[in-house]
Amino acid sequence: RSAVEITQEALDRIQALEPKLHSFLHITAQQALEQASAVDAKIAAKEEIGLLAGIPIGIKDNMCTKGIPTTCASRILENFVPPYESTVTQKLADAGAVMVGKTNLDEFAMGGSTETSAYEITANPWDLSRVPGGSSGGSAAAVAAEECVVSLGSDTGGSIRQPASFCGVVGIKPTYGLVSRYGLVAFASSLDQIGPFGRTVEDVAILLSAIAGYDPKDSTSLKVEIPDYAASLKPDFKARGKLRIGIIKETFGEGLDSVVEEAVTKAVDRLQSLGAEIHIISCPNFRYGVPSYYIIAPSEASANLARYDGVKYGYRAPGADNLLAMYNRTRASGFGAEVKRRIMIGTYALSAGYYDAYYLKAQKVRTCIKQDFEKAFKKVDVLACPTVPTTAFKIGEKNTDPLSMYLLDLMTIPVNLAGLPGISIPCGFDNNGLPIGLQLIGKELREDQLLQVAYAYE
Ligand code: GLN
Repeated sequence: RSAVEITQEALDRIQALEPKLHSFLHITAQQALEQASAVDAKIAAKEEIGLLAGIPIGIKDNMCTKGIPTTCASRILENFVPPYESTVTQKLADAGAVMVGKTNLDEFAMGGSTETSAYEITANPWDLSRVPGGSSGGSAAAVAAEECVVSLGSDTGGSIRQPASFCGVVGIKPTYGLVSRYGLVAFASSLDQIGPFGRTVEDVAILLSAIAGYDPKDSTSLKVEIPDYAASLKPDFKARGKLRIGIIKETFGEGLDSVVEEAVTKAVDRLQSLGAEIHIISCPNFRYGVPSYYIIAPSEASANLARYDGVKYGYRAPGADNLLAMYNRTRASGFGAEVKRRIMIGTYALSAGYYDAYYLKAQKVRTCIKQDFEKAFKKVDVLACPTVPTTAFKIGEKNTDPLSMYLLDLMTIPVNLAGLPGISIPCGFDNNGLPIGLQLIGKELREDQLLQVAYAYE
């Protein structure tokens, strides 16, 4: 089939499913068909085409796309059309990928259910009354429902891995600095990282190779060689010497659904039967991940979101008669409740007098968590645990109780605090037929190893 035909199929499917799913905020049908016919023209002219030529892809709406609205699912960016392209989307376009639309998310990626979007609620394709997870819920749902082949999300505290788990797809958060953040709207800059979703480990590996790599436009970008992740995938890992997998003991405690525990235990047994050596590992500071993250992330967010003042971007509230009133009105009506809560927590934690007690303390805890991982990786190559303690919950079930939502990030947050790569892969279903995710955590820049284990498991 031609790239245009493949793209048209994706667009038809989007049109059929969107009234129920709401994975997308904007559908870029016209641009997509133009991109696809450019690919077909290259093929006809026997010119070289990129690795992703003609592949329909969804992009989380917090990545800037030149000339195409980028809202972060916030009212405050309602009319914002970026004058520049993010590095990742530029790389995808260069590889021939066809962007079919911008996907829904929690406002500014703050949340775990995609319910804080100012525009629409995305449904979980496995059960429309449930959330797809978040904050990259639109990207995960779109791939699960085959509205596109692959997609990009961003992960600050679990926002790729958690929705991947809830939607039964594969999602990887790379090592901090592997993928450029240029053009990603900042939430918490020391934690944010872009990564791919796909239905298979191989798809995710191909996409990761396409977007990773040094970028002078991002000062935290790492100068490292990017391997061809997909090329080195082998059906088993026996040939490569002993692979040691550590089970994080602390993740199997209170609050873990018994079906999730069962599925993950079975998954570990399977890894053992594939030739892995299983160790029990203790990460005693893991449990301080959530409290320290919910100081650090809001602190960084409060600084990053100071730029939305009604002057520089999209939305400005009407009716103000002086500058300060304009700022206040714009921010009061432009931001939703969860974003305001984070700004207030962050401003408080950073204020003189509280800085040492909260922000600095949280940074010290962050170091302790990192040290737990360093110790663990002296004994094992890869760590394993559930991605989320539960399966997808009902729409509306948790959004009045932010704390219960924050607690779901228990197992994903420490990985961001330490800057490590983490992947979620499907490992079974609960009694309602909802997918369960297995999280594998790798050493810094060992995405190759992580993908290899995931591939062998799959
Ligand atoms: N659920 C977490 C939060 O609300 C993580 C979000 C993310 O990774 N973007 O902050």
